[in-house]
Amino acid sequence: MLAVTDRRRTAVDSVAVPPRPLARGVETAPWRRELAAAFRDPQELCRFLGLDAAVAVEAAAATGGFPFLVPRAFAARMRRGDPDDPLLRQVMPRAEEAQPAAGYVADPLDEARFLAGPGLVRKYGGRALLLMTGGCGVNCRYCFRREFPYAESGATRRGLEAALDAVAADTSLTEVILSGGDPLLVGDEELAAVIERLDATPHLRRLRVHTRMPVVLPSRVDAGLVGVLGRSRLSRVVVIHANHPAELDDDVAEAMRRLAGLPAVLLNQAVLLRGVNDSAATLKALSERLVEIGVVPYYLHVLDRVRGAGHFEVPEAEARGLHRALQESLPGYAVPRLVREVPGEPSKTWLA
Ligand SMILES: *Cc1c(COP(=O)(O)O)cnc(C)c1O
Ligand code: SF4
Repeated sequence: MLAVTDRRRTAVDSVAVPPRPLARGVETAPWRRELAAAFRDPQELCRFLGLDAAVAVEAAAATGGFPFLVPRAFAARMRRGDPDDPLLRQVMPRAEEAQPAAGYVADPLDEARFLAGPGLVRKYGGRALLLMTGGCGVNCRYCFRREFPYAESGATRRGLEAALDAVAADTSLTEVILSGGDPLLVGDEELAAVIERLDATPHLRRLRVHTRMPVVLPSRVDAGLVGVLGRSRLSRVVVIHANHPAELDDDVAEAMRRLAGLPAVLLNQAVLLRGVNDSAATLKALSERLVEIGVVPYYLHVLDRVRGAGHFEVPEAEARGLHRALQESLPGYAVPRLVREVPGEPSKTWLA
């Protein structure tokens, strides 16, 4: 998730569906079945929403190497008949994706350069990102990893082993961030195996999970997952990714309640996106809804300039203005930090 997150074009892990063979029993977990039933064809989603077929035709032509994937639980929160619905806009390919935009590149964060070894991205002091998989529960068109070569970057079982060895050897790390793709696309047994290794690494104190699954597929936060996270000796931080208040329905609220009970610190990161959340009223409503469901607004990212996402850009001056409006109308804890990720900097760059 942002680190956020996403993808592909290469081999096994570059597909947007669960990349691994499923263990027996896990196969029947409701979230697995829901993911299998997700919309994978823009036409199906258009039919479901009562949209003009032209929307699907445009989408089919623009999808390119970044597949269409939208769980039904997420689609159910979209307004029927509205081609400009803010949730739809995040996931429906548009003709603009195919238009080149100056400064928009395949790997805007230069992540390939920061791979500390297979499966591990190490940019900042004390913490490192473990790439658990290249897949996600939804494919967001603005995602900065839409072209990231996961298979070559070690987001594979063997890469993960090497990454865990590197974490064990680096005593400067206090926190590991499970990332991807979306780490909760990985099944409970495999997650448990990774977390056991982290638990057994004495210098680690915190486990962070960067995931959009509780938002797009809240059934993922089931008893099995809560059990796996709850057994860890590490303190837990779960960072979700929602951009618009309409994404946060009662099922999401329930999922967050289950995570809060672990206990876990719950945070949200959002991306500022043209046509989705580029108004002070929407951002304010997002913050208020997050707090209502027990989640602290953490980061508001300006867009990473990934190829195909230029039409989502909100200029930085406008972003600062929106942020100021939030500051003036919300309690301090409900105002996310406005950030940009600048390759080579020792932390995210705080714009406000
Ligand atoms: C964003 C990011 C983190 C986390 O940064 P915080 O400021 O701690 O949230 C860690 N590693 C990488 C590579 C990141 O991109
Ligand atoms: S959930 Fe969306 S934003 Fe996050 S990594 Fe996946 S595609 Fe990217």
